[in-house]
Amino acid sequence: MSRTIVHVDMDAFFAAVEIRDNPHLAGKPVIIGGDLDSTRGVVSTCSYEARKFGVHSAMPIVQARKLCPQGIFLKGSLEKYAAISRELMFLFDEFTPLVQPLSIDEAFLDMSGCEHFYKDLNSMGQSIKKRIHEKLRLTASIGIAPNMFLAKLASEKQKPDGLTIVTNPLAFLDTIPLEKMWGVGKQTYEKLISLGIDDIPALRKTPLDTLVRSLGKQGYQLYQLARGIDNRLVEPNTSTKSLGAEETYAENIKGEAVHNELILLTDKTTRRLRKLGLQCRTVTVKFRYPDFTTFEKSRSLTEATADTDLLLATVLDLAKPFVGPFRLLGVSLSNFTSAKTQSLFTKKDNLVLWQTIDNLREKGFDIKKATTLKKDT
Ligand SMILES: [Mg+2]
Repeated sequence: MSRTIVHVDMDAFFAAVEIRDNPHLAGKPVIIGGDLDSTRGVVSTCSYEARKFGVHSAMPIVQARKLCPQGIFLKGSLEKYAAISRELMFLFDEFTPLVQPLSIDEAFLDMSGCEHFYKDLNSMGQSIKKRIHEKLRLTASIGIAPNMFLAKLASEKQKPDGLTIVTNPLAFLDTIPLEKMWGVGKQTYEKLISLGIDDIPALRKTPLDTLVRSLGKQGYQLYQLARGIDNRLVEPNTSTKSLGAEETYAENIKGEAVHNELILLTDKTTRRLRKLGLQCRTVTVKFRYPDFTTFEKSRSLTEATADTDLLLATVLDLAKPFVGPFRLLGVSLSNFTSAKTQSLFTKKDNLVLWQTIDNLREKGFDIKKATTLKKDT
């Protein structure tokens, strides 16, 4: 059965974000590198104008400065890029639930079965590009193909702002340099050259046993890829968008009871957050009055956290202007990062402490009093 796999790759992502937010940078060679002052710093992304000077990602900053002395060198903000990345990944969910993020600015979308929503594959690709531009004011390059391998090669084909649809896999593959093949690094490339294979048509003509003899399992993989075969499936991450707890009270509550309920709701929600390995940036508190009038108040923190104390402080602060009685209270968390992504940034919270508390509580310990979850927090 034929599949429709879309690969989306943002164009010069970090540099594009900086140019979007600082329009005077447009048309200039913008170079982003985390550690600009160190001699070991490398370019993480650069604008297409900088690429014209020969600058590329992973190049030492020192070398980039020599090639492009007029370049605008910026430290960038990983936190900002991660926040935009999350918006991008959520946006993909509008198109299909089968989204597999590949890196901060790339994802595979399995659009099989969604084809009939669009006039053709071109308009499918255009509508994804249009939505990204509407929401983020950034451009992406898109590849559409029957599998992930081909879709990824296709998105690279016409950067920036490109859209490449692979209708004839073999003809398309024959336009791709051998070293761009998935799994063909320097070592494999040299082995292939020594076998007299210097392009994809030559690879396709090579018998399977020759490839397996010199490359083992990878030989089999290359044999398949040269034929445009890749049966990997798009594996979505379980992307939770918000976590919340709310409670409707049989009798309207006010005063200290409200305070205590907010503590319980925050505790419950943050434990779930940690259980999912997530951290959040946005806290929302919901109040419903006896006449059903409902208010929601949100605040975003500068850094993602899973620390109950930090999140509770925000909840209580958001709650200050509201005076009960209430018939319903709610606390919800959103704007997630995984704990793994978070390790890129400076951490000031007590994640390990909270995880330990969670574990002890799961074993039946009642240690609420030992934590800072007290009335006077
Ligand atoms: Mg990219």
